[in-house]
Amino acid sequence: MVQTTPMMKQYLAIKEKHADAFLFFRLGDFYELFFEDADLAAKELEITLTKRGKGEEAVPMCGVPHHSAEQYINTLVSKGYKVALCEQTEDPQTAKGVVRREVVQIITPGTIMGNGLQDARNQYVAAMTGEAAAYSVFAADLTTGEAYACRAGTVTRAVEELLSYSPKEVILLEGSSLSEIINERTEAFITHLPAPADTADEAAELPEDLQAGASLLTSYLYQTAKRSLEHLQRFAEYTPSRYLQIDHYSKRNLEITETMRDRSKAGSLFGVLDYTQTAMGTRRLKRWLEKPLYSQSDAEERHLLTEKLLDRFLERDQIRELLKHVYDLERLSGRISFGTVNGRELLQLKKSLQQLQPLASVLTSLECGPASRLAAEMVPPDELIELLESSISETAPVSITEGSVIKDGYDQQLDQYRDAMTNGRSWIASLEAKERQATGIKSLKIGFNKVFGYYIEVSKANINHLPEGRYERKQTLSNAERYVTPELKEKEKVILEAEDKSGRLEYELFTAIRDHVKTFIPQLQSAALSVSSLDVLQSFAEAAEQHHYVKPVFNQKKNISLSRSRHPVVESVIDAGAYIENDFQLTSEQDMLLITGPNMAGKSTYMRQLALIVIMAQAGSFVPADQAELPLFDHIFTRIGAADDLASGQSTFMVEMNETRRAVDEATSRSLILLDEIGRGTSTYDGMALAQSVIEYIHNRIGAVTLFSTHYHELTVLAEKLSRLENVHATAREDNGVLTFLHRIQQGPADKSYGIHVARLAGLPDELIRRADDILRTFEKRNRKRTKETQQVEQLSLFPEAETEHPVLEELKKVDLLHMTPIEAVTYLDKLQRQIKGEDENEAHSEAGQPARR
Ligand code: ADP
Repeated sequence: MVQTTPMMKQYLAIKEKHADAFLFFRLGDFYELFFEDADLAAKELEITLTKRGKGEEAVPMCGVPHHSAEQYINTLVSKGYKVALCEQTEDPQTAKGVVRREVVQIITPGTIMGNGLQDARNQYVAAMTGEAAAYSVFAADLTTGEAYACRAGTVTRAVEELLSYSPKEVILLEGSSLSEIINERTEAFITHLPAPADTADEAAELPEDLQAGASLLTSYLYQTAKRSLEHLQRFAEYTPSRYLQIDHYSKRNLEITETMRDRSKAGSLFGVLDYTQTAMGTRRLKRWLEKPLYSQSDAEERHLLTEKLLDRFLERDQIRELLKHVYDLERLSGRISFGTVNGRELLQLKKSLQQLQPLASVLTSLECGPASRLAAEMVPPDELIELLESSISETAPVSITEGSVIKDGYDQQLDQYRDAMTNGRSWIASLEAKERQATGIKSLKIGFNKVFGYYIEVSKANINHLPEGRYERKQTLSNAERYVTPELKEKEKVILEAEDKSGRLEYELFTAIRDHVKTFIPQLQSAALSVSSLDVLQSFAEAAEQHHYVKPVFNQKKNISLSRSRHPVVESVIDAGAYIENDFQLTSEQDMLLITGPNMAGKSTYMRQLALIVIMAQAGSFVPADQAELPLFDHIFTRIGAADDLASGQSTFMVEMNETRRAVDEATSRSLILLDEIGRGTSTYDGMALAQSVIEYIHNRIGAVTLFSTHYHELTVLAEKLSRLENVHATAREDNGVLTFLHRIQQGPADKSYGIHVARLAGLPDELIRRADDILRTFEKRNRKRTKETQQVEQLSLFPEAETEHPVLEELKKVDLLHMTPIEAVTYLDKLQRQIKGEDENEAHSEAGQPARR
């Protein structure tokens, strides 16, 4: 049986240990897959399924050439599979019996390292450990070497922190019950592992309680990479509360780094602000926007540098120009450490490092403290630059096994081989001329092929001109003969030997250089950190100039004062100058806005505008306004929109309430809460009741800065009894039934709900619109009447009392029938009937289509 051949036994033994992965089994120039792996891979990769062996013993097989394997591996991994790469680990020519094979790397969605990385984005693997209210979160990016650890507190917070990394994979301890809750919130692949026996080096400097979790994560990285990882950094511990916290839903709602609709960067805040020049800068900008600071001095330092770079535009231009030549130092470090870097990439490394010195001098010339500090961190590793300069050829190819990587003059022995090759080749070249002259055959030529080596070719027509015995015959073609001479063979031997030896030597030299470059990885990474920070700051400055942003000023008093502020994304997608600027004036005494106004009037834009400005300011950016004063916020909570809730399988209203709960549970007086149309997901009465009590609760208990938009006009009277609440409204103008949204936010409540007008604008049929107008008038009349009857003072009770019964029913309950005469009873009945009829007259033209009375 095929299964019992020694090679198949080897295959099965290895496959058994990697049951959850496609086993790419190296056979010569191919990776072969067998059995179920072959069936599935043939389907997923759309390659031909064949068989190994004959008849009943045949097993399914398919294969990919090793030189193009990467693209197939990427395809499988991007579909969520794991691939175990099994190589021949001894020379087949010297091997006795079956060639030894070992799995040298396992490639998973979170640990893919090749050129298959689609973009500059981080690719995190995360881990979560802990119990009760003491959970910790860890994240590492194998491609860049970053590693982070934090104590996150409750499970909810920990999951939020974990999601902030958008991990591709999550590692949990065996037996952990966290997978369910994590599965609900992300599509990351979850792997359970036993607790690691030892503390990883990368975790050794963490506080003790964080070491095990960090080691759990690194153990996965080492198990998959199966090699040393010099670029993997020590875990950087941080406290989530050092940053402005924005939960995952809010991040998505506010479209900070991607749009909700198609998850694209264009149309997000990140898209508007990204003027970075390097891949590292792009990643860092994204991280700064996802984790704005909660430290005034740190944010102010960024503002200071942004300001400098904005003012000194010549220097900014120089910096931008220099940054263009800086490649992805973090990813390059990863590839150096992984042993996959090639000659061309080492040239990129050199080029990048050569920019450090000029960058530092431009920074120093800015003559400001933070700029000089940044400059001080950009120390070019001169020794490394020299090494690369002297060793790697400017025309190095991508391949590192085909020569031409190492520069002439770097290694004596290599130079000798190369000389031998050159001399030999020029001797051969001169031979052609010499022999043509000697034989008088003008078409005689020297050629080379892999099988016969160098030869002298003479066409059949000229053979008789050849002196007898001049050459040895080697090969006969239809129209020519090929010959050799002992001398030619001699030279050929020298050339081929030199070629072979120089090839091997070059490879050796290259790997030695690569290993030496490894020792510089920490320096490369710290250079990467300062260069990427500089890149973000110049990007802030560039954005500030392009979009006319101003430097925000922080205050401790909780004053928000923004004049002529704009929504950074909306203003960037509409015509220049078309954006209607709006002000914000809030203080610690008046920190809640109730925003009314018709749909589409700009309420939600206004609310998001504040949140985005806060995020920009705390990330270190300037902001879209003419003047901006802000307090420092600790947390942003939002309840906006419901478009994406359906996808999560929860009812919209439940999601709405969950998010509201999170806000009222966790917000402090330093938080910003945005609540857009709370209560919309349920019936009018309890929706409005909830909305009112949420406002009261935040007002009385939390004192957070709150923007609350609503279509319940009835809520606007709340401002009379809640001192911190102010009414504002988004204005619209109505001319002859045509509504124009002015997008201007003004003080006071809106006077009207314009829903029907919007419906008209949307082109609903005239008949339907007229009917809606009628019904609305009836409702309004009835409400006025009921208000009068029940003598309720507060306008709010237009609706709340509807929870009680109809007045006629209430009267009926109270009446003492036993003590009534028949005539009294009839008169009473008549009164009740008239009471109901009176109402019906008012509603006479609207019998149909009324909502059922509650
Ligand atoms: P609402 O929340 O009141 O329903 P939105 O805030 O969603 O309204 O605004 C509707 C549209 O109006 C937005 O998509 C935007 O294109 C435009 N808009 C909103 N505010 C402004 C503004 N200040 N200037 C210009 N256009 C605006």
